[in-house]
Order: sequence, then structure tokens, then C-alpha cells
Amino acid sequence: MTRTKIGLFGGTFDPPHVGHLILASEAVHQFGLSRLYWMLTPDPPHKQAQPITSLPHRLKMLQSAIVDNPVFEISHLEIDRPGPHYTVDTVRLLAEQRPDADIVLLLGGDSLRDLPTWRLYADLVAAVHQIGVMRRLGEDFDMLTLETKIPGLTEKVVFIDAPLQNLSSREIRRRVLSGEAYRYYLHPAVYEYMETHHLYR
Ligand code: ATP
Repeated sequence: MTRTKIGLFGGTFDPPHVGHLILASEAVHQFGLSRLYWMLTPDPPHKQAQPITSLPHRLKMLQSAIVDNPVFEISHLEIDRPGPHYTVDTVRLLAEQRPDADIVLLLGGDSLRDLPTWRLYADLVAAVHQIGVMRRLGEDFDMLTLETKIPGLTEKVVFIDAPLQNLSSREIRRRVLSGEAYRYYLHPAVYEYMETHHLYR
């Protein structure tokens, strides 16, 4: 049986923006993914110091953002289990759910740089087939140093090429608060949802 490739894209998605959608669709195209699982993280360990929009709002926005793409699907693997949510555990659970598939883990450049601080990072790298890395402008990291800490990492890393805008959820939140334009950085349904529920004001 030929194996299929699936992607895992974790994030807070507070809110999901067109940068996420562009990267996800580039990943589907570049890796030939049959499915891309958007893994909504209920309670991200690296964002404890900041207020995060409630899970039901984030889930609704993510559903609205991806509904018209049949390859995209929300994974409930983290929502449905008590935290803390370590990616290594999530990947193992996904591998159990999809034994027919090779997993491509999608990470931002910031996450790749911090990978040696993640729980059981070597096991995580071993458990995935490839790691698709999305870089923001000016984001730079030293692959040689990373390879010393995690032998075998380099051969799994593939950079995702996209003419990226330097967009982030933080920038959207800032724009909403300060009354700057933000509408077209969002999927129209996400924009509508944010307006209806007066989010980020
Ligand atoms: P925040 O600004 O709140 O930290 P974010 O825009 O980085 O949020 P996350 O939900 O943390 O959004 O994103 C999930 C993943 O997508 C992260 O690994 C992040 O680095 C990556 N990502 C988001 N936007 C971009 C972008 N424009 N270019 C490259 N990577 C991105």
C-alpha cells in the first residue's frame, strides 16, 4: 500500500489570518499533502503571560477560515485531552489515528529555533517524516548549531517558499485595538465573526 502524507499545523490562531492560510496551502502543494490538520492549541505553554481569546471563539474563527478547503481539517487531538499538550504526544496520537500516513510537521522559524527546549525533541523529530519550516522576514537561525543539538534534523527540514507578508495574529490584534485597517488580512468569514463578537477591542 502506498503511504500518504499528512500535515500537522499547530497554533493558537488568535485570530487565524491569511498568512496562516497561505502557508498552509503552500505546504499542501509543496509536500503533496492529502490532508492538513490544523491543531488548535487550547492553552499554549509559551503564551502563559498574555490573555488568550476563549477556545470557543478561536475554534469558530478557525472553522470559518478553513471551511471552503476540503484538504484542511481541524484536529481535536489537543482540545479533547487535558493539558499540558506536548507536540511529541500529539504526533504520537496522530500516528496512531493515521497509521497509513507519514506526518509532516509544520513549524514557524521561531519554533524551529526553540526546538531543543521542547519536551523529548529528539523523539519528536524521529517521529515525523519531514518538518516544513515557515520563516518570517528577518528570522534567522543557525542550522549547524541546531544539527549539533539534534542530529538528523537537517535532512528532515524543508523550507516552505512563499512570498510572505510579515503578518502575525499579534499584529492583527494591535491593529484592531489601535483602529488601523485589518480587514483584508483575514478570511472574510473570520472578519465577519470578529466584527459580530467585538473581538480584540
Ligand atoms: P502571535 O502573533 O499571537 O504569536 P502567530 O501569527 O505567530 O501568533 P500562531 O497561531 O502562533 O500565529 O501561528 C501558528 C504558526 O504559524 C507558528 O509556528 C507561527 O510561527 C507561524 N506563522 C504565523 N504567521 C506566519 C507568517 N506570516 N510567516 C511565517 N510563519 C507564520
